Amino acid sequence: MSAAAPAPPRKRAAPARAGGQAAPVSPGERLGLRSDWDFALHLPLHYVDETRITPIAELREGRVAVVQARVVQAELMAARRRVLRVSVEDEGARLELRFFHFYPNWARQYAPGKELRIRGEPRRGLFGFEMVHPVCRVATPADALPQSLTPIYPAGAGISQAWLRKAVAAALRRLDAREWLPAELLERLRLPPIAQALQQLHAPPPELPLEQLEQRSHPAWRRVKFDELLAQQLAQQMARSRRAEQRAWPMPERGGGLVQRLLAALPFALTADQAACVAEIAVDLQREQPMHRLLQGDVGCGKTVVAALAAAQAIDNGFQCALMAPTDILAAQHLQRLAGWLQPLGVGVAWLSGAQRKREREAELARAASGEAALVIGTHAVIQDKVQFARLGLALVDEQHRFGVAQRLSLRAKGTGEQRQPHLLMMTATPIPRTLAMAVFGDLDISTIAHSPPGRQPVRTRVFSDQRREAVKQRVRELVLQGRQAYWVCPLIEPSEPSEGGEGAAQAGSGPRGGQPELRAALDAHAELQELLGAQADCVGLLHGRMPAALKAQVMADFAAGRLRLLVATTVIEVGVDVPSASLMVIEHAERFGLSQLHQLRGRVGRGSQAAQCLLLFSEPLSQTARARLQAMHETSDGFVLAQKDLELRGPGELLGQRQSGLQGLRHADLREDEDLLELAREAAASLLREHPQAAREHLQRWLGGGMDWLAA
Ligand code: ADP
Ligand code: MG
Repeated sequence: MSAAAPAPPRKRAAPARAGGQAAPVSPGERLGLRSDWDFALHLPLHYVDETRITPIAELREGRVAVVQARVVQAELMAARRRVLRVSVEDEGARLELRFFHFYPNWARQYAPGKELRIRGEPRRGLFGFEMVHPVCRVATPADALPQSLTPIYPAGAGISQAWLRKAVAAALRRLDAREWLPAELLERLRLPPIAQALQQLHAPPPELPLEQLEQRSHPAWRRVKFDELLAQQLAQQMARSRRAEQRAWPMPERGGGLVQRLLAALPFALTADQAACVAEIAVDLQREQPMHRLLQGDVGCGKTVVAALAAAQAIDNGFQCALMAPTDILAAQHLQRLAGWLQPLGVGVAWLSGAQRKREREAELARAASGEAALVIGTHAVIQDKVQFARLGLALVDEQHRFGVAQRLSLRAKGTGEQRQPHLLMMTATPIPRTLAMAVFGDLDISTIAHSPPGRQPVRTRVFSDQRREAVKQRVRELVLQGRQAYWVCPLIEPSEPSEGGEGAAQAGSGPRGGQPELRAALDAHAELQELLGAQADCVGLLHGRMPAALKAQVMADFAAGRLRLLVATTVIEVGVDVPSASLMVIEHAERFGLSQLHQLRGRVGRGSQAAQCLLLFSEPLSQTARARLQAMHETSDGFVLAQKDLELRGPGELLGQRQSGLQGLRHADLREDEDLLELAREAAASLLREHPQAAREHLQRWLGGGMDWLAA
């Protein structure tokens, strides 16, 4: 039914143009489709069955059907709205068609006596069935019916199904879809050949089970999803074996060395989880292959000390260690903490930040280059060109999800000499569900701290409508006057933009930033809360991304020391900030934050022995997902559960951030549903690389083309 009547005026969308003046882009490109494979893999969302004609007498309410009938009457009615009414008939049964949007010539086109082929959804009307806005065209009963179900593709404004169908069909005709995967593999996994799968998906014969097609569980769908996951797993395994060919400096553990002295100096004993992670890392560091490991664990679980022990092992072997953190505040906190632990043991520490004065910076650069500083801590200033190390042996990246691939790579590229690479340890407090970890970080070793140190109080989380804002303020006032310390987090103004992070923000330049309005919100809240505290107004501090680094550091120090008790802040505090005495967290407009962000923010409290609370303020109207997020926050404080929930609510791409997830490639497989396929693809990738390397290469070429850079990191 591709020669349908012209689209009614309402549906005519102006061609979308990038930036107004730019040259119009082809419809394919607007959908991101360029090669024949792109089109072949642009798969239908659902189908309509136009292969059969249903007699009007057999129509069923709500079930889309195709009817062949003759017009008996067409009239233009001008009631409150102009309506075109067309009555059609087959074998004596009647059907009313109604159009609210139409061209004037339609009345003539659908004149009595005309034979029409009509597709629409029958509804019960006053006089039998009617269809509102069916798709119609003039056609005699002798006109052929299609042999296959009609695909409905994902499309954008102004891109017609007819155009897409033609473009896809043409691409399929040109496509070289010879099978490249070994027959025994497909047989074992019960997957059809790719040519057959594509044919079935784009033009299914009417006897295929529609439900399986639309729910994407049909073997043809599974073949496509499997291929996609296979490509990803192949690429990761190849990256891994490339890495195995690289060399790093082995760093044996030394009895009685720096590691032992640091352990002895710590004010606490390691938890079992921490000790296990330390041991895994210690083994990696002794190898001649570069470590490539992710240390994950919920906020506040104690990753820093694990990283410090890794640093100690490297330094003990005469190497330098670099630590990069995404924000000034966090980097400064690491400096304070690690320098506090390691300097007394004779370790030289250098500090690099974008906010530094030139003179100071040069002195620090010299200390890094000479090797005088064994530990270099900073923001992304650490990876700038000017920074040189004498003997970089270990690179630590904190909150790695805040950095792009290129940034992690350039830290690693700071390694010097004899083609040795530094070992790499990345840390994240955004726990990654297992499935996702496997799909995205298949080539990464993972250490997990599953349990936080003992003695922590769970954070009690309550959710309030902002109509109760006054009551919440009074509660905060009481607690602060009792001597408790609290954060008051101001609303995110640009909901899609995670934070303003000062000059240390790793994602700078990734889009419009909400700095200005967020700043205003923070200033307002600060004034309001100072007023609330009256005579005690001095204990209300303010922290936002636009403040100079030195001032930020001063404010954090005042808060940590208890001179400030209520800290009004933008999301600059989201990541890593550690002030164990803070026990109350208030988040305004919590509905604007993502789940992992809320969890991160909440993680700023409950770090000490005091029972902690988190108060989430929201304003109506709440979207369904926002409601689900707040509900989840109320119900659990387990980061892994929340991460899983986030995955359900948002899908994997967003969870990891488009930039580094590499999931742009995952168009078809759904990690929530296709876990079994992922496992199969993982095994298949290994055996394919071993036994059919040519097929592996061909497969990758088809699926990933050139876009594989992200895999290198
Ligand atoms: P994160 O994993 O979020 O980076 P941190 O490393 O900042 O967490 O640790 C959070 C807090 O827990 C810090 O104050 C740290 O000193 C403390 N901590 C870490 N390990 C232990 C432990 N084994 N026992 C007690 N406190 C610990
Ligand atoms: Mg941390």
